[in-house]
Amino acid sequence: MINLDFESEKVYNTGRAPINIHAFKVPLGKVHIIKERCKECGYCWTYCPKEVLEKSDYVNKNGYHPPRIKKGKESACVACGMCEAICPDFAIFVEEIKNE
Ligand code: SF4
Ligand code: SF4
Repeated sequence: MINLDFESEKVYNTGRAPINIHAFKVPLGKVHIIKERCKECGYCWTYCPKEVLEKSDYVNKNGYHPPRIKKGKESACVACGMCEAICPDFAIFVEEIKNE
């Protein structure tokens, strides 16, 4: 599997990178969590490819712990939309913000 690593501008396993890599910006996402809808299935924090999310200490009205952004990961979301797509309770959505 080939993964693009935009931080180090290398492609894993090959050391190669696209010649126009600077023409692309990594998207930046802002995560919105609707805490009271969450049922703590854990899909969002399990499958986020950037490990942005974790279970919070907060307990919602149904007794579940919704996700929160991990400390130090406030700018790590790349707006891939995985958490939004995978949440069975529509409790999380992502807004792509300008990455200047
Ligand atoms: S949009 Fe992608 S990177 Fe951002 S929090 Fe959701 S799963 Fe993680
Ligand atoms: S995927 Fe949705 S319901 Fe499951 S823990 Fe995340 S926010 Fe909660």
